[in-house]
Amino acid sequence: MGPLTLTVVRSQTMSTALKRLVLTGEGLQRIPEDNAGLHIKLFFKTKQQSQLVLPERDANGKIQWPAAELKPIARTYSIAGYDRTLNELAVDFVLHDAPGPAADFARQAQPGDTLGFAGPGPITLYHPKAQHFLLVGDLSATPALSAVANEIHNPDSLTIYLDLPHGVSEDDIRRHYFPAADTQLTCVFSGHPSGPDFLTPIQTRLQNLPPEQTSLTLAGEHNAVVALRTEARRLGFTKPQLYAVPYWRHTMNEETYHAERHAVMDN
Ligand SMILES: Cc1cc2nc3c(=O)[nH]c(=O)nc-3n(C[C@H](O)[C@H](O)[C@H](O)COP(=O)(O)OP(=O)(O)OC[C@H]3O[C@@H](n4cnc5c(N)ncnc54)[C@H](O)[C@@H]3O)c2cc1C
Repeated sequence: MGPLTLTVVRSQTMSTALKRLVLTGEGLQRIPEDNAGLHIKLFFKTKQQSQLVLPERDANGKIQWPAAELKPIARTYSIAGYDRTLNELAVDFVLHDAPGPAADFARQAQPGDTLGFAGPGPITLYHPKAQHFLLVGDLSATPALSAVANEIHNPDSLTIYLDLPHGVSEDDIRRHYFPAADTQLTCVFSGHPSGPDFLTPIQTRLQNLPPEQTSLTLAGEHNAVVALRTEARRLGFTKPQLYAVPYWRHTMNEETYHAERHAVMDN
């Protein structure tokens, strides 16, 4: 399962600051049936490179990286959708204001552009046997949470909270990501890092859910994920019911934040 080269087929604006790239490439068929929001790694060439050089697996299955000057830029994204018939993968990119290689690639992407792909990883985003499902995130987590919401068929058991940047249209988010009329979705526009307008109602909601019967998915900016995970643990949520992964950190790029994310996840 070595890294793959994918090609941009087309793009779609999902909302202000959120753009979908539809990608294809030989080998994507390894994506499993249950793929909602699974983690994937994308590789981009550096500004100095004319050609993308991907890591490879050696005979023992170990990843071998190219020499430092040829190493691609790596970023983690989510499976927003996979169409097995067309072999097309949808990945939705936040077009954040601060420059970043992944967001910049997505902003400028044209059909025929190439990028690298590894994964998907094995971490699932929710506990399918739970009675209650609480999904919490921001714009970067919206594609993954939407994919999870699609798999939960009892709308009464599902509650979603999103903290969205100012300027993003709630109508666009509902239309593209949570179209079911009976979806219990609350959108807050509190700005980053998330403030009490966003966190307090969720903390209250958590206090009214039985931890052992609840699947809690926390994704998005570091501060919100860590604050809500602390509260969830205090209330008795344990690992099997709790997905808590910070997707990015305000003012830090992936290179500076990567190790800290893993420390949060391992803790
Ligand atoms: C498991 C996982 C799944 C993810 N899935 C998705 C996904 O499906 N879609 C998606 O858009 N992102 C997703 N992310 C987040 C994404 O990996 C980061 O946002 C990443 O930093 C983007 O890389 P970049 O090159 O654009 O910016 P970087 O070079 O990493 O950062 C440049 C600057 O932009 C800021 N920045 C980065 N991300 C954001 C943001 N979302 N909003 C505002 N400012 C930001 C940084 O703080 C920094 O100041 C996921 C992350 C993880 C760990």
